[in-house]
Amino acid sequence: QLVATLAQGDGFDRMLRRAGVGSDDAERVSELVARNIAVSDIEPGTQVDITLGRRTRAGATRPLEAMEFRARFDLALAIERGDDGRLSLLRKPIRVDDTPLRIRGKVGSSLYRSARAAGAPASAVQQYLKALGDHTDLDRALRADDTFDMVVSYRRAATGERQAGDLLFAGVERGGKPATQLMRWGKDGRFYEASGVGEQRSGLMQPVPGSTSSAFGMRRHPILGYRRMHSGLDYRAGYGTPIRAVTDGQVLGAGRMGGCGIAVRLQHSAGLQTRYCHMSRMAVRRGQSVQRGQIIGYVGSTGLSTGPHLHYEMYRGGRAIDPASVQYVTRAQLAGSELNRFRSTLARLQGIAAGSALEDLVPLPDESVEPEREIDKLAVRRPIRVGG
Ligand SMILES: [Zn+2]
Repeated sequence: QLVATLAQGDGFDRMLRRAGVGSDDAERVSELVARNIAVSDIEPGTQVDITLGRRTRAGATRPLEAMEFRARFDLALAIERGDDGRLSLLRKPIRVDDTPLRIRGKVGSSLYRSARAAGAPASAVQQYLKALGDHTDLDRALRADDTFDMVVSYRRAATGERQAGDLLFAGVERGGKPATQLMRWGKDGRFYEASGVGEQRSGLMQPVPGSTSSAFGMRRHPILGYRRMHSGLDYRAGYGTPIRAVTDGQVLGAGRMGGCGIAVRLQHSAGLQTRYCHMSRMAVRRGQSVQRGQIIGYVGSTGLSTGPHLHYEMYRGGRAIDPASVQYVTRAQLAGSELNRFRSTLARLQGIAAGSALEDLVPLPDESVEPEREIDKLAVRRPIRVGG
């Protein structure tokens, strides 16, 4: 009886051979396992209990009698040698409850300590502080006599293991009334207030880091030679520098645009558009939604350009405006049926009893804890690390 550990990038075949299993058995096991789960889906570090039988003759490898391991959070796989001498696989599904974990308590002198003492996973406390900090002034958002309220996605297995995931809700109550209520929502996992208002993100991002080399306005054109309107800002940037969307938007156009070369044009809210010229390569397609900070292309020198740089334009109502003159605040607002779904999800999370997911799962009537076989108790477990 021994325990082997599946190392990163390890195959079952290799792990078993290292543990002293013969190549025929190892191959058969790999085949059986592969039929049930992709080996890449099994967590590295998974321990495999292996029972080897007696050697049939001196010098021979010991035959595999049985092995068992946790293939997934909700599935164990067992392999046993039957009376016919053949190895066969048995799936053992593990019941999993995914009721989110809700933790409430007094903030006290340290939110971190109070929340941890109440059973909150460390990662959840960090996400809670980040969510509050992104939406509010953290120094004012939390006082010692406030009540913190957090809900974390959580999974409990009938076998006792727990897995904490993302923070779903971050709340603060002051004097018995909700002071802050934030819930994670949408594919990008941003937090929204109970009213459906997203976090405030002020100002526009710079499309590339660094300084500008040419401002918006009349100038002598470096290639054409005569004075004309420079309808954007030029940024000094090396070839291949990633260009980022200055705020959320949709790709209005992406492709060759005359003297502008390979370019991307974005439509933002409030009738605002931005255009990014002379790219070496685009990273988005027409019609696609982009988020503030998302890479939309790379600096190049296509079109009428003397060398790699970013020519960046902004339009309002179809007219070019000076990008340097615009600093605005964006706040997402959920509306319509999405707002309704948001509200019902929020109500569901707030209906969870605090601490309920800390309890162990109550065994179902047909779910008995397997009594340990006598041999398991007697055998000395010799953990060996294979690979690693
Ligand atoms: Zn320019």
